[in-house]
Amino acid sequence: MKPDIVDAGISAARARTAHYDAVIVGAGFAGIYTLYKLRSLGLSALVFEAGAGVGGTWFWNRYPGARCDVESFEYQFGFLDDLQRDWNWTERYSGQAEIMRYMDYVVDKLDLRRDMRFETKVVSAVYDESTRRWMIETNRNDRVSARYCIMATGCLSAAQVPNIPGLDDFAGEWFHTGAWPHREVDFSGKRVAVVGTGSSGVQAIPVIAETAAQLTVFQRTPNFSLPAFNRPLDGREVEEAKGHFAEDRKRAGLAANGALYPTNDVGVQEVPRERVYAELEKRWGSGGFGFLTTFGDIITDTTSNDIVADFVRAKIRAVIHDPEVADLLTPVDHPLGTKRICLDTGYFETFNKPHVKLVDVRRSPIERITPTGILAGAEEYGVDIIVFATGFDAMTGSLSRIDIRGRDGLELREKWEAGPRTYLGICSAGFPNFFMMTGPGSPSVLTNVVVSIEQHVDWLAECISFLESRNLTAIEALPEAEDAWVEHANEVAFKTLLPKANSWYLGANIPGKPRIFMPYAGGLGVYRAKCDEVALNGYSGFSLA
Ligand code: FAD
Ligand code: NAP
Repeated sequence: MKPDIVDAGISAARARTAHYDAVIVGAGFAGIYTLYKLRSLGLSALVFEAGAGVGGTWFWNRYPGARCDVESFEYQFGFLDDLQRDWNWTERYSGQAEIMRYMDYVVDKLDLRRDMRFETKVVSAVYDESTRRWMIETNRNDRVSARYCIMATGCLSAAQVPNIPGLDDFAGEWFHTGAWPHREVDFSGKRVAVVGTGSSGVQAIPVIAETAAQLTVFQRTPNFSLPAFNRPLDGREVEEAKGHFAEDRKRAGLAANGALYPTNDVGVQEVPRERVYAELEKRWGSGGFGFLTTFGDIITDTTSNDIVADFVRAKIRAVIHDPEVADLLTPVDHPLGTKRICLDTGYFETFNKPHVKLVDVRRSPIERITPTGILAGAEEYGVDIIVFATGFDAMTGSLSRIDIRGRDGLELREKWEAGPRTYLGICSAGFPNFFMMTGPGSPSVLTNVVVSIEQHVDWLAECISFLESRNLTAIEALPEAEDAWVEHANEVAFKTLLPKANSWYLGANIPGKPRIFMPYAGGLGVYRAKCDEVALNGYSGFSLA
């Protein structure tokens, strides 16, 4: 349907309100596929995107070393065979620039750009019960009304710069990995500080160390990291992978993690220890997250986890020359895999270089940034560039930065004050026709996220078709269904070791954020079946009007 433009007669800047069937916020993987899907249903849809282009995560995270840690063949769209057939990945794990090229290619091939507005941030979304429409406003004074409001705002898109006194007076340059400038940052001859050793820091540190004159890494918590063993792909294997893509994709969609890692139901303690080590060694040598599924109980059994974690600790220690540095880099405060595990290329080896220094922020907390460096533990480290690899206000941050109001003026921020509450991680009671792609309470970040995004968008499209075909104008999660889902999601999480770490999955990285385990830990395959069942039962757990 073509959008209508109606003169609302407000101010010159807001003279016109555009009416669409759907507004989509965000132009990453989720926003792109949602627009394609809704268009194919014949709906008019408009995307607002804060960035100057498509790509989401890959638009913003241009730091040195940024690349995916799910293999390229799997970390791509699967909904249209042409897309994968006509695209040739060049590395086992694609770099940021290649993923950006891919996303531009998809958007152009599907002619999606004409319904996208860039450099436009949605500031509010308010539901009008009398018209059953959402009114969406942007920082450019757009006013758009829509029957469906779809948040494709990303789980990891609200970059978090720590509140350290003195930053404003720093005379050098500073950057956050998640809001990296669109120009080359030249580290050569510079004294560089990196704060943070999660996946972003672990990727950036070895690359920055290649050119920086001096690199000081400020580490609060050492992280487990596995070798990626990235490599170029040859034409033959690319063609071969294309040949069984559809089949692979189906399998990934039913797997717990949305990916094709080989699994094994056997527990660590059921097997003689020499065989355990042999299996671990084999998976370690293959590189990638498949290591975590070497045995079936690594994420659920403390003793099994300890055995495997010790294996990884020994690998870390074997690489680092200085035993004191090895101590600092060896994770001991959380079970393996309970914080998002990192994949690296030469991370630990970097600390053997004479110009790389590690500062333990727990022992020597950062007191302040001075005009010329970082003051930690009474010592000033002189630096020219600071890189904050300090992560994100994950899963809820991009939503809580928008003023979202549902029925009776209910504020999402207020409703979620004690933690996010959703039904299936897609909808929230009190917010009719409001959908979150990979929202809190869905498997999202515990999986290959692109596969989870496709599952959500497909479900959403089915749901909207159902409503349209029956002339229904509103769908809303029932509070009792939401309560049951929140309880179920919690129960599932606590059957694993995942809540045992102070991770961003729990909001532990953001001062004052309530600690709720946010992603759904029951596995994507199980979750998909639950979502399908809800749809099959005429959207059980929802009220329809
Ligand atoms: P995003 O890509 O985050 O896109 C959301 C978009 O919404 C952003 O462009 C943002 O600007 C926009 N937006 C937000 N709020 C507003 C607003 N108010 N107004 C307008 N626009 C707004 N996952 C994996 O499965 N495998 C990986 O290898 C992997 N690597 C990653 C590497 C990095 C560096 C990071 C940070 C994350 C990685 N992830 C990975 C997770 C990644 O976020 C997802 O894979 C996926 O890209 C998310 O897509 P999305 O469309 O849901 O969200
Ligand atoms: P992160 O995992 O949250 O890591 C942030 C790091 O900064 C942690 O080491 C954290 O320490 C530290 N930190 C935060 N605030 C600090 C402070 N005030 N002082 C000192 N240190 C501080 O963030 P991320 O590395 O950006 O990764 C986020 C997620 O994005 C990943 O888990 C992953 O899902 C995704 N990602 C994937 C890839 C990939 O390989 N494809 C790359 C980057 C990101 P604590 O641990 O003590 O909190």
